[in-house]
Amino acid sequence: MSAKLTKPEAHYQGRPQGTEHCAVCTMFRAPYGCTSVQGDVSPRGWCRKYDPTQAGVMARDAGALREQLTAAAKATDRRPTEGQKEAGNYKKGEVHFADGLDIKIENPKGSVRSGVGPNGRRWRCVLPSFYGYVVGSTGSDGDAVDVYIGPDLASGKVFVVDQVDAKTGAWDEHKAMLCYATQAAALADYKRAFSDGKGGQRIGAVTELSQEAFKDWVKTGPTKKPLGELRQRFAWGGAVFGPIIKTPVDALRELRYQNDGVDSPESWGRGK
Ligand code: SF4
Repeated sequence: MSAKLTKPEAHYQGRPQGTEHCAVCTMFRAPYGCTSVQGDVSPRGWCRKYDPTQAGVMARDAGALREQLTAAAKATDRRPTEGQKEAGNYKKGEVHFADGLDIKIENPKGSVRSGVGPNGRRWRCVLPSFYGYVVGSTGSDGDAVDVYIGPDLASGKVFVVDQVDAKTGAWDEHKAMLCYATQAAALADYKRAFSDGKGGQRIGAVTELSQEAFKDWVKTGPTKKPLGELRQRFAWGGAVFGPIIKTPVDALRELRYQNDGVDSPESWGRGK
C-alpha cells in the first residue's frame, strides 16, 4: 500500500478550487479522512490529487453551464423586432451541455417574451427561466423542440410536457423542461411562462427522462406524437417491457420490429 502524501506534497488547501472540493472526491472519507493525504482534511478543501465522484463531475458541469448561461444572457438580443422573431434571425446565445446537447437561447431568464395570439391580441410574459430550442432537432410542428432551462443545473433530469391546446385539449407540441429537480418545480415554471393563466390547461402527459435519453429522443427519436402516448403504448420502464424498453428510442426500435403498416415508426416521427 502506497504511503499517503503530506499536505504540502499534495498542495492541499483548505478551500475549494472552483467547484472541486474534497466532499466530491473519490478519496474523501467522511467526516475528515482522505485515503491519499495525511491528517484531517476539510470537506471543503482541495488538493492536486483531486479525483471527482459522479457528483463532482455533475458539479463541475453545472459550474461550466452556469458560466455559459451568463454569457448567453448577454449575447442574446432581448428586443428583436416581430420580423426578426418570425425569421429567427436575431442574436441568440448558445449553451452546450457536456453530453453534447446544444441549445440556442431565444429568451434569457427574466426577459420578456411577446407575440400576437390567434385571437389577434398581443401577449407578453416575463420568462421564469431560460427559453430556447435544441439545435438539430425537429418537433411536431417542423420547428426545433423548445426547452426551458431551470435552476438545478446538475439535476440530470428532463421533464417533457406534451403540450395541448388550452381550449380543445388537442395535441400541440412538446416543451422540455431541463435542469429541474422535480416535476412540480418544472411544471410551476411551465405555468409561469404563460401570461393568460392557462398554462395548467395546456399540460398533457408529462414524461421524465434522463438527460441522455432526452438527447437521444430529441435528435433521432419519435417527436411527432405525444411522448406520453408512446410511453403508454409500450409501458416502457414498467414490469413487462421494463428490461427491454427503457427510453423513447428503445420504443421506436421496438415499433420497427412490430411494424404492421398502420402504427408505423414514420407516423411517430423521424428516426432511422
Ligand atoms: S481532494 Fe485531495 S485531500 Fe481532498 S479528498 Fe481528494 S485527495 Fe484527499
